[in-house]
Amino acid sequence: VAEKRRGGCGCAIAAMTVLVILLVLIGLFFVRHWWKRTPLPPPSGKDLQVHVLDIGQGDSILITSPEGKHVLVDAGNNGDGKIILDALSRHGVNQIDLFIATHAHADHIGGADEVMKKVKILKVLDSGIRPPSSGSSQNENSNQQRARRRGVTLPTTKSFEDFLKTIDETGAQYIKAEPGQSFDLGGGAVIRVLAPIQPFFTKDELRAGGNEPNANSIVARLDYGDFSMLLTGDAEAQTEDRLIQSGANVSAKILKVGHHGSKYATSERFIRNVKPEVAIISNGMDNRYGHPSQPALDRLKAANTKIYRTDLQGDITIISRGKGYEIKTERTASNEELWVGREPQRDDSSKSGFVAYGEFGPPPKEKEAKAKNQNR
Ligand SMILES: [Zn+2]
Ligand SMILES: [Zn+2]
Repeated sequence: VAEKRRGGCGCAIAAMTVLVILLVLIGLFFVRHWWKRTPLPPPSGKDLQVHVLDIGQGDSILITSPEGKHVLVDAGNNGDGKIILDALSRHGVNQIDLFIATHAHADHIGGADEVMKKVKILKVLDSGIRPPSSGSSQNENSNQQRARRRGVTLPTTKSFEDFLKTIDETGAQYIKAEPGQSFDLGGGAVIRVLAPIQPFFTKDELRAGGNEPNANSIVARLDYGDFSMLLTGDAEAQTEDRLIQSGANVSAKILKVGHHGSKYATSERFIRNVKPEVAIISNGMDNRYGHPSQPALDRLKAANTKIYRTDLQGDITIISRGKGYEIKTERTASNEELWVGREPQRDDSSKSGFVAYGEFGPPPKEKEAKAKNQNR
């Protein structure tokens, strides 16, 4: 009898254990996902403005919330500070509440020190990934190795050092980005961080020519009522895949196309998940990387996405009152030319080729090309 009893008891314990494990797993699932589904505050109905600034080959995006808070996402290249400062004064910005440095490449943080010295920046959100050449000799490409041997500081490294130094000098609050962080911009607008997801991508996990700063870019989404925009930095397909796997809510009305329209970003799978109505590409005219690439444009076109490009249309402004949105451009371009990619002057698939604009000096004839375009 005792034997039998013990058997029955064992069964009950086993059942209880399974039940407890199940409950814990369900609990963990919700804890892991709750922040992705946190309801938004209601939109105030005032204007939210997003200005994708034409700074040539690079990124710089100004967001002004319905309550007048300002967010700057990236700050273009070294020397672009003036263009950005002009835009800030044009839009009445005298303080930046949050500066998001998507990653430590010169075409994203190059002008940050110039901006920070003139306009107070309260918080800086950084990916936490240093350019490979700024510390160890591991993970350097041949270009970086050559520079280190010659004792030359690469533009990206220099930009990053200037950026860190200026944060120190100006007393801005440094925040390391982590998925789940959210920044309330007031009036119902919120920015949420989706990536970089840890463990960080390492060089050997990436495609030849890929690099850690791009792969570990900050990816964030801006929400305001039914308006949403995904800010992707220079994230490529591997990062996009990891984002989807993480269960992050990537669906957005507007997609800031990753990596200036590189063929290695904006995969078909990612477009299927984001379902963007509009794609915006921030790139320069005579960039040597062939941004935007024809394959990336074709994938967006096949998904019936509307396209905007800073190289052809100048500053692109999006305004939403929490319901729908409208888009204005500084210049006009034909739909036909918007869907034509640029020819690479340097193949960004080779190991030593693409690291970031900035490693090879300024692209040729950017200013002349721009002037020509404006006269057209
Ligand atoms: Zn870039
Ligand atoms: Zn980059």
